Amino acid sequence: MLAPTSEVSFEEEDLLALGQHSLGLFPDMVDELESSTSIDLDFRREGTLVVAVDRDDAEALEHLHNYHRRLGLPVERLVGDAARQLEPGLSPNIHYALFSPQDLQVDPVALVKALAGAAENAGAAIHPNRPVEAVRVGDAGVEGVVTADGDFCEFDHILIAAGPWSPKLKGLPRGALPHIRPVRGQMICVELGEPPLIEHVIRGPDAYLVPKSDGRLLIGATMEERGFDPRLTAGGIFDILEGAWEIVPGIYDAHVIDMWTGFRPLTLANKPVIGPSTIDGLYLAVGHGRNGILFTASTAYGLAELIDTGELPDYLHPFQLRELR
Ligand SMILES: Cc1cc2nc3c(=O)[nH]c(=O)nc-3n(C[C@H](O)[C@H](O)[C@H](O)COP(=O)(O)OP(=O)(O)OC[C@H]3O[C@@H](n4cnc5c(N)ncnc54)[C@H](O)[C@@H]3O)c2cc1C
Repeated sequence: MLAPTSEVSFEEEDLLALGQHSLGLFPDMVDELESSTSIDLDFRREGTLVVAVDRDDAEALEHLHNYHRRLGLPVERLVGDAARQLEPGLSPNIHYALFSPQDLQVDPVALVKALAGAAENAGAAIHPNRPVEAVRVGDAGVEGVVTADGDFCEFDHILIAAGPWSPKLKGLPRGALPHIRPVRGQMICVELGEPPLIEHVIRGPDAYLVPKSDGRLLIGATMEERGFDPRLTAGGIFDILEGAWEIVPGIYDAHVIDMWTGFRPLTLANKPVIGPSTIDGLYLAVGHGRNGILFTASTAYGLAELIDTGELPDYLHPFQLRELR
């Protein structure tokens, strides 16, 4: 989901601004990636429905909607029938929803493949499955990296973007990275059906549903502090299925395609760090948390500008290591 508006939290206006900035860059970035690689990114613009399943949720959404209005965000309040006109598959128990037309979605796996493909087309050399063991730092700044197979590769600029695994890199002095931890998310994918069960992204209090154009319906996601344990749990899958079924009862008969876990890289302040580090030549793109796909464009263009010109773009100023200290 590329959803800065429907995911906005109180007191996180700098994340909202970064998300909106990045979302604004997406249409051109998607065009460029699709024309460079011919990979379809399934960039969809139907918008997001946020629904309440009981009175408490409705109160909470009303409160959130007042906040949306204060921030001038284009979110529409819908009573149950108006929401069901938009999404006939919604449960009859839903009486209150918010519609955020500007929140979009993209296929994240296709996006990563297209980014790698476009980078190669532009002359980058990519070495998949060749992990970096350590970063070598000298008195004058970075010198290069040592790979897990023992090779030393010399570089003037090194960008750390190893997600929740970033702190495992050896060779960095203490304090070079913020504290980053993995937050596990479990997801399940079912068949969307024909006609499709839903057309919009729908978020409820305990689950969200994301329809994809290739006939998949993604349902997610848990937020769990379990370190790097990649295993699925019955309870995690049960919780998100129940949360999704409360919103769209038709998923009960949907055939299961796949289930998996992933790890969100979170900092203590719940903010990414995107910019220079305290070491010459070393840059950071870490801690993207729940919105790393959304933040892709601002992160990539912003860091390219920084490394090329030495100037940090204004929109990245709130996301510096010093801001987290
Ligand atoms: C269930 C779930 C749902 C999510 N939904 C959304 C969403 O709807 N919208 C959104 O915007 N975000 C979403 N996110 C968050 C998003 O996936 C992350 O923020 C994003 O993937 C972070 O990107 P990253 O490149 O920093 O890290 P990662 O995606 O974790 O990538 C890090 C990469 O570094 C590699 N690596 C690790 N160690 C080394 C090493 N030593 N050497 C070389 N390579 C290394 C890893 O193999 C990996 O490929 C979701 C996350 C989860 C888990």
